[in-house]
Amino acid sequence: MDSDETSDGEEPAERRAPADAFSALSDPLRVSILQELSAHYRTSDEAAIGFADLRRRVGVRDPGRFRYHLNELRDGFVEKADGGYRLTHAGVQVVAAILAGTYTEAVSMGPTELDSDCPFCGRPAVATCEDGRCLVTCDNEHPLFQWSVPPNATADATLPEVVDLAELLASQAIEQSLLGVCPQCYDSIEPTVLVDGPPRPLFRAVCGTCGGRIVGPVGFCLLVDPDVTAFCRRHGLTLRDDHVWEFPFVRDDSSVTVLEEDPLRLAFDVTLGGESLSATVDGRGHVTADETGGAE
Ligand SMILES: [Zn+2]
Ligand SMILES: [Zn+2]
Repeated sequence: MDSDETSDGEEPAERRAPADAFSALSDPLRVSILQELSAHYRTSDEAAIGFADLRRRVGVRDPGRFRYHLNELRDGFVEKADGGYRLTHAGVQVVAAILAGTYTEAVSMGPTELDSDCPFCGRPAVATCEDGRCLVTCDNEHPLFQWSVPPNATADATLPEVVDLAELLASQAIEQSLLGVCPQCYDSIEPTVLVDGPPRPLFRAVCGTCGGRIVGPVGFCLLVDPDVTAFCRRHGLTLRDDHVWEFPFVRDDSSVTVLEEDPLRLAFDVTLGGESLSATVDGRGHVTADETGGAE
């Protein structure tokens, strides 16, 4: 135990409200503490760091003042362990977000024309990135794609690279939410397919814990299905080289029919290069695909 550590007081009792948790970050010294704990974690095999060592690294002389600020972090972001202090899971997340510039940097890029045409009107697809939101549309304002990107990812990137990254993040998020896991907070999430109400069938997953939302055409579910992606790859269409709005089942509602309402089953007919694939999607977005052979 470190020499200048005195009695530690009570363990934190209850979980704080979110506003209180973030108000714990209101002092730059506390942010420095989190950053030093994170730096220690990255460079050492030991997750925990002793009180005196941590105080020296942060550069605070007065142990009482340092203890006060450290304790303010202890409900949510820092915990005691192995004779020292370490970041909690929430602490790791919040430092990652601080380092990524999520809370501080406002990035604005574009508009920039992409090497892709709007599938609805043939005009060039145009990308912009504002406040961490990457948006692709055309000059007739057809919505083609939108997704969030962390500001650090945009620092040295061109806008087309940011769009590629946003598409990668979106497909990972869809995959995760189809498995019932919130891509933001990893709590459980209920993916659903909506056919009543919206003019086109929608895939939607909303997290009750963090409020994360994934909403888009049901074709999104096919984008991450291994059988569908293998079929598309054989016909020269991949998420790596092509944009999500270039996949026919993402943009084209006419390829969708409702087979059954309860339980819900939707059928997709995907035809590429004279070959067809039929896929069904259930009410939770799960895909079953079957190649139906040539359509000569
Ligand atoms: Zn358009
Ligand atoms: Zn969540």
